[in-house]
Amino acid sequence: AKKLGRNNTQFYEPTMNEEARERLRIESALRNALERREFVLHYQPQVDLQSGRVVGMEALLRWQHPELGMVAPQRFIGLAEETGMIVEIGAWVLRTACAQARQWQDAGHGALRVAVNLSPRQFSEPQLVNAITEVLEHTGLPPACLDIELTEGLFMHDVTQAVELLHKLKSLGLALSIDDFGTGYSSFSYLRHFPIDVLKIDRSFISDINEDDEAAIVVSIIALAHNLKLRVIAEGVETETQVNYLRRHGCDEIQGYYFSRPLPVEEFEQLLRQGRDL
Ligand code: C2E
Ligand code: CA
Ligand code: CA
Ligand code: CA
Repeated sequence: AKKLGRNNTQFYEPTMNEEARERLRIESALRNALERREFVLHYQPQVDLQSGRVVGMEALLRWQHPELGMVAPQRFIGLAEETGMIVEIGAWVLRTACAQARQWQDAGHGALRVAVNLSPRQFSEPQLVNAITEVLEHTGLPPACLDIELTEGLFMHDVTQAVELLHKLKSLGLALSIDDFGTGYSSFSYLRHFPIDVLKIDRSFISDINEDDEAAIVVSIIALAHNLKLRVIAEGVETETQVNYLRRHGCDEIQGYYFSRPLPVEEFEQLLRQGRDL
């Protein structure tokens, strides 16, 4: 048994080193990514279930590295967060997404809303409110067209301070969403304390919706949102069954592969020009 244990160790050790080396490689590449313009944003449509029309989009970060190829956010967002690089990257995302939304509005595609993910680290930056104010002024995007997506990680520390900051953000006129709603253990206490406008039902609950099942949690979250006068968006919608179920239960909007994957700028534009709807 002892020998087996040692062999096990020998078996796992190289893998862990590889992982550590991979992390280092990504970390050092990440340091140059902004100035080398390796980031792009993809946009995933959000569709209104009553009208079937595209009413907004979530900006999702993509990193195209010359050697590593397309690096998925899961592989670098955490690292960017730990090293603090997310602050600068996040500022770029915000600027780029707002400028893009304004451009599409100017092209006649209506008051499209753009949703931007805010990481906990950005949330604790003292300059956050100023930075967002500046971006809105500089791009001329109507504040009501910006939707900031927050996750539970944000609220772990000082609740009083978080509430104050969220009110400041809201006073700019933008909308606040809770991302991945239902996955955190304290989701309900946000609703009591935070000036939220939108709940995004996490994909894991949406995947419960299939032919013969009731998706009790989804139905409950929709009712909860509406009782609190919040808008509700279903994430990760992949099937027609899910679309019909969500419509039948009064969900406001959907986002997911069923309608479209996140798209590069030109493809999103094409979708807008064609006026493609659900
Ligand atoms: P998220 O905010 O929950 O974003 C939704 C993720 O679900 C995206 O993954 C999207 O591509 C994926 N998705 C959308 N529809 C479907 C579907 O129908 N089925 C499935 N299976 N997946 C779907 P992505 O783009 O890989 O992003 C992963 C996460 O990385 C995001 O999760 C978000 O937490 C983070 N992220 C992405 N961009 C940014 C950013 O600019 N800033 C920050 N702080 N985080 C970001
Ligand atoms: Ca999100
Ligand atoms: Ca989400
Ligand atoms: Ca997520």
